[in-house]
Amino acid sequence: MRRIKEAQFPVIKTSDSFDFGAQPSINEPLVRELLRGEYIGKKENILLVGNPGTGKTHLATALGFAACSQGKRVRFTTTTALVTQLLEQRENRSVQRLYKQLQRQDVLILDELGYVPFSKAGAELLFDVVGRAYEQTSLIVTTNLPFEQWTEVLGSERLTGAMLDRLTHRVHILEANGESYRLRQAKARRRK
Ligand code: ADP
Ligand code: MG
Repeated sequence: MRRIKEAQFPVIKTSDSFDFGAQPSINEPLVRELLRGEYIGKKENILLVGNPGTGKTHLATALGFAACSQGKRVRFTTTTALVTQLLEQRENRSVQRLYKQLQRQDVLILDELGYVPFSKAGAELLFDVVGRAYEQTSLIVTTNLPFEQWTEVLGSERLTGAMLDRLTHRVHILEANGESYRLRQAKARRRK
């Protein structure tokens, strides 16, 4: 219970409420395997890639929730909120404390990489987080962007390459390519 509170999930979602039938592009056996949490001990990362509304945040939360239930330390944040916090704290020099706090986590969930481009300083701070997590903390990253487009939000090609190198060294990729769940539900409602 404490772990779940500390994780700061925006909304609690579990795998029980995820309808795999509605999102056939998702590799269900891989999700089931990851829910068991062995990737955490191996410090492997998870990348959820796909269109908006396809359940990426839901699954990232469900994976985090499962990890909490296994007693792991989990922290959920949107990528933008984290970068904003890092930029602010850099000004008042308390950034080291934040880094320490992040490093204590077993799983760090970075939601929604790709909707908002970062400043140069922001991208560098994010790279720092990814670099520090390397082989220490499992990262779960959700994004709407295919790898080729990461440079568009991170700015520098070199930094993007270095970040992807660390993130994808040991990574499980879940792709969600279907229609938006919300959109489909809205359409279904309209048909009734
Ligand atoms: P994304 O992060 O990919 O944009 P979300 O995970 O936020 O999408 O999903 C949007 C909404 O639809 C959420 O309320 C989520 O719980 C729900 N949802 C998405 N896919 C499914 C699914 N396959 N089964 C049940 N609920 C889903
Ligand atoms: Mg999302």
